[in-house]
Amino acid sequence: MTTEAPAGTPVRMSAVIRRAGDYLAAHGVQSPRATAEALLMYLLGTDRAGLYSRSEGLDTRAARLFGRALCQRCHGIPVEYLTGRQQFMDLTLGVAPGVFVPRPETEGLVEAAVEAVAGRSGPVVVDVGTGTGAVALAIKHLRPDAAVWATDVSQAAVTLATSNALRHSLDVDVRLGDLLGPIPEAVRGEVDLVVSNPPYVAREAYDSLPEEVKAEPYEALVGGTRFHRRLVSESPDWLRPGGWLVVEIGDDQGPEVRSVFEAGLVEVEVLPDLAGRDRVVRGRLPGATPGATSADGS
Ligand code: SAM
Ligand code: GLN
Repeated sequence: MTTEAPAGTPVRMSAVIRRAGDYLAAHGVQSPRATAEALLMYLLGTDRAGLYSRSEGLDTRAARLFGRALCQRCHGIPVEYLTGRQQFMDLTLGVAPGVFVPRPETEGLVEAAVEAVAGRSGPVVVDVGTGTGAVALAIKHLRPDAAVWATDVSQAAVTLATSNALRHSLDVDVRLGDLLGPIPEAVRGEVDLVVSNPPYVAREAYDSLPEEVKAEPYEALVGGTRFHRRLVSESPDWLRPGGWLVVEIGDDQGPEVRSVFEAGLVEVEVLPDLAGRDRVVRGRLPGATPGATSADGS
């Protein structure tokens, strides 16, 4: 698609955005206008206000880069992989192909997790399957007194989460390995919170995912309730009495994950996302930590 202005013709950015949006929409891209805006803001190094108040159109170089980005997006590359960044709560995170892009619904996981340990000072937290580091970093940002660990089996994720931690000067220890395996023995039995957004798409559902979701790593997406079950069986070894396990789930997994939690944990709750769909399950080990309060502050 051509987005360059003919010589001498002033082109308003709103017209460029409208045409690019129509092009994306014709290729079945979701949120076409917002996508066109996000790509232009990135390419021109400006924000939304700067974009719309711009008096000149695109020069040849910007127009070529924009055309290429539109083409890549139409071929199923997520917009966040093209811009290399994603907002998650108060943090702008670096994202890259090969690592799961943080989703807005995961902000609810962070809120439920932070609420669960609100009454504890200096909580010890482990984020399992950290990806870009989104959950671990958001928790450390909200609770600077927390000691936060993060794990992932993907070296690309560990590298990216470490660089996101440095970018925001957040002290999170990111380690490579399976579930809680990389956490030092000294922390066993001392953890206040295990939090995880594990891969939970069912194998049978994978083929019908949108192209841009399938552009993310398979190992970051597919797991059904396998990881929830492993977390319920492996976390109690690491949690202190009264410590919490808080996980994200697929919207049809609430009843199943609730019953898995109820086999070993107490105060089990299934919490909805902003769209009202089941999204988070939390529960805690029986017993209490001195000075700790339960999730509702009692
Ligand atoms: N927490 C990030 C977020 O919410 O944006 C990423 C979530 S992504 C759905 C799941 C992550 O779990 C991926 O980064 C994947 O590499 C990681 N993972 C998969 N299997 C794992 C395992 N056995 N142990 C630790 N991490 C694992
Ligand atoms: N919400 C993701 C999706 O777009 C899946 C997230 C996950 O597996 N944790 O399907």
